[in-house]
Amino acid sequence: MIYQWNKPLWHKLLGQAGRLPHALLLCGPAGGGKMDFARALAARLLCETASGEAEACGNCPSCKWFAAGNHPDFRLIEPGGDETGPEGEGGEVEPASQKKKSEQIRIDQVRALDDFLSIGTHRQGARVIIVHPAEAMNRATANALLKMLEEPSASTLFILITNNRRKLLPTILSRCQTLNFPKSPPEQALVWLRESSVPHAEELLSHAGGMPLMAVDEAAGWAHLEGFYRDLAQIEQAGPIVIAGRWEAQLKESRDGAASVDKAAFVLWMQKWVFDLISVKLCGAVVFHAHKLKEVRAAAARASISALFDYYSDLLRIKAVAQHPLNPRLFLEDMLSRYARAASSGR
Ligand SMILES: [Zn+2]
Repeated sequence: MIYQWNKPLWHKLLGQAGRLPHALLLCGPAGGGKMDFARALAARLLCETASGEAEACGNCPSCKWFAAGNHPDFRLIEPGGDETGPEGEGGEVEPASQKKKSEQIRIDQVRALDDFLSIGTHRQGARVIIVHPAEAMNRATANALLKMLEEPSASTLFILITNNRRKLLPTILSRCQTLNFPKSPPEQALVWLRESSVPHAEELLSHAGGMPLMAVDEAAGWAHLEGFYRDLAQIEQAGPIVIAGRWEAQLKESRDGAASVDKAAFVLWMQKWVFDLISVKLCGAVVFHAHKLKEVRAAAARASISALFDYYSDLLRIKAVAQHPLNPRLFLEDMLSRYARAASSGR
C-alpha cells in the first residue's frame, strides 16, 4: 500500500523504471509507511502485468503468490528469522537469549541468500529482497550482505529499510541509492487516520510526533496512555511505589491478553512527557502533547529545568535496559521514584 504522503516518491522512483538501482535504502522516521512502500514496490516489480507507474495488479499468478507470502523470487530478511524457539513459560523474566535472537538479523539468514541468488528466477522476472530493519545487522552480517551488493545479480533489487541511517556501515550506504521518506503533512495524516476509523486521532497523532502509522500502533494502548497521565498527576499523593504497582499489573494483563503495553512503552511515554516538560520550560512549545498543554505546563512549573535534564539522561540509561530481563517491579519503581524527585524539584 502506498500512502498518500508517499505517492510523490513512488512516481519519482517508478518514473525511472528500467533504470532502477540494484539496491535501495528507504530512510526516514518510524511510522511513515516505509515497509508498506517496500512491499508495494516488491509486488510491483514481481507483478506480471503492471507497467509504468501503476501498482501491482493484484490478480496475476505472481501477485497471488506474493499476497500469500510464498513468492519464490522474494525474500524478507527480518530479525527473529525462522528459528524462533518455543515460548518460555510465562515467568517474571524473559529468557535473555530469546530476546537477543529476536532483535538481530542473523548472519546465516543473509548467507542463505547465496543459494537464492545463484539460480535463475522462478517466474523469469525480477527478484526482490527486503532487509528490515537494516540496522539490525551487526558488522559481520552487514559485511556478508555487502559482498552481495558488490556483485549484483541481474534483475535483482535489494530494498534496505532503516529508521536510523547513521547506524549503517558507510560501505553499505555507498552501495545503495537512498530514498528519503518525508514526514507526512499533518492534515493528510489526520484525514487518513479518520478515514481508517482510528479513535482519538488528533491526540494519538500528536503523541506519535506526527507519524501516522505509529499513531495507529498506539491506538490499542489508548486506555493505558490515559492512565499513564492520570498516574503521573497523582504521583505526589499516591507515591511512586503505588504507581509502580499499578503499572506492573498492566504489564501482567498485557502479557496474558492482547499486548498493548510493555516496559519499553512506559519508558517511551515517559521520555516524550519529560521531553515536553523541558521543551515548554525552554521555549513554551510542546512536540508530543499539543492535546495536554495545560497539564504539561502545570507539571513543568513544579520542576526545575536542571532536574528534568538529569532525569532525561537517566531515562536514556533506563531505556537501554528496558528489554533486559529485570524484575519489572523494581524497574518501574526506580523510574518512577526518580521522576517523582525531578517533578517536585522546583519548589
Ligand atoms: Zn500482478
